[in-house]
Amino acid sequence: MSSIKTLRTDVAIVGGGIVGSSAALALRQMGIGVALLERDLCGSRSSGVNFGGVRRQGRPLSQLPLAQRAHRIWGRLPSLIGTDGEYLRSGHFKIARSESDMASLERYRSQSLDFDLGLELISDARLRERCPWLGARAVGGSLCVEDGQANPRLVSPAFALAAQRAGAQVFERHAVDEVAHDGAMFMLRSGNALEVHAPVLLNCAGAWSGPIATRFDEPVPLRSGNPVMVVTEPMPHFMDWSLGVEGGGIYGRQVARGNLVLGGGAGIAVDADRTRAGSDAIATLAAQAIELLPALRHAHFIRTWSGTEGYLPDRQPVLGPSRTTPGLFHGFGFSGAGFQIGPAAGEVLAELVRDGRSSTPIGAFSIERFFAEEPTTPTPP
Ligand SMILES: Cc1cc2nc3c(=O)[nH]c(=O)nc-3n(C[C@H](O)[C@H](O)[C@H](O)COP(=O)(O)OP(=O)(O)OC[C@H]3O[C@@H](n4cnc5c(N)ncnc54)[C@H](O)[C@@H]3O)c2cc1C
Repeated sequence: MSSIKTLRTDVAIVGGGIVGSSAALALRQMGIGVALLERDLCGSRSSGVNFGGVRRQGRPLSQLPLAQRAHRIWGRLPSLIGTDGEYLRSGHFKIARSESDMASLERYRSQSLDFDLGLELISDARLRERCPWLGARAVGGSLCVEDGQANPRLVSPAFALAAQRAGAQVFERHAVDEVAHDGAMFMLRSGNALEVHAPVLLNCAGAWSGPIATRFDEPVPLRSGNPVMVVTEPMPHFMDWSLGVEGGGIYGRQVARGNLVLGGGAGIAVDADRTRAGSDAIATLAAQAIELLPALRHAHFIRTWSGTEGYLPDRQPVLGPSRTTPGLFHGFGFSGAGFQIGPAAGEVLAELVRDGRSSTPIGAFSIERFFAEEPTTPTPP
């Protein structure tokens, strides 16, 4: 006799990262039934091992409405999920290493004026006065005073716990290995342990979302990437801002305990699930970090790690309804930048379920963009 547990609910979610968990929480706040299946522990993948940058600055303009919505959610974290997650609006400073970097930061500032990010360009004597700790390679930068940082290991699991407290049925260590649809209902199976039936399915499986999309005839060019992270021993506190570099490269922040968390470069995928930071990437990161922050010259790294993140070629997520299957919604492919916007993406998914539309523009994230008709070349007469 089979002992498989079977349940029916309104919405089934695959993936308990920050996106799936915040969708579960938002759905419960709307009174909608939810079952969330996570194959590991909620928030143990990208959402829990990322750098912890909570920044709007530097995002494509099409992401700024979503990022602004997320900014408001981050501002009420303790009442929403029961912890501040060490979230601080510490400021985010994007460093320019050349005059052309500076010009590009100036362009971004004027293009994003409508979003009220309050960007301030700093260079020359004011730069040295405000950040005496910056290396000579930096010629200036752009400060977003209300952007900041948080501890992903606290924030992401807390979204899942809050969803559970609000009544979501959360099943950790339940990998979804079969998904079916009979035209009206989805059926999700996790081995011989659980079968979930629901009219709505949210595909929030992070870097592993591709097979679910493909299952519904929506193959997308999702690839996995593995950003490298290191943390130093605690050092005397010298820096409040979280740092990035125009054009990419490295990023860094100093936490209250004094450790510097640094990221950049690509790690090594051991297999589809496990990653590690390679020694070459760590050496490159160390050299770049010392160039920007000379105080790190004698610092020891006490831990290195990486994670598995899903990237799409245009570095925009897929967020919205399926083009083939009513009741299916996707939220994946956040391309290295989904921690800040994750909570807003979750709310948008919940709105799509309840209202069939989102109050935040998400047109740029449609899965349709991967299936646009090739323009037909007129045949010469
Ligand atoms: C090292 C690193 C640094 C980063 N730094 C930043 C940053 O500073 N700022 C920022 O905004 N973003 C950052 N990001 C990106 C950000 O972490 C991600 O975009 C975001 O966490 C994605 O959330 P998610 O919920 O979509 O995915 P995930 O957190 O990966 O969650 C997906 C979940 O789905 C589960 N799952 C997959 N398949 C199945 C299945 N078949 N059955 C059940 N469960 C399944 C997985 O176990 C996983 O827990 C970084 C990412 C990495 C890796």
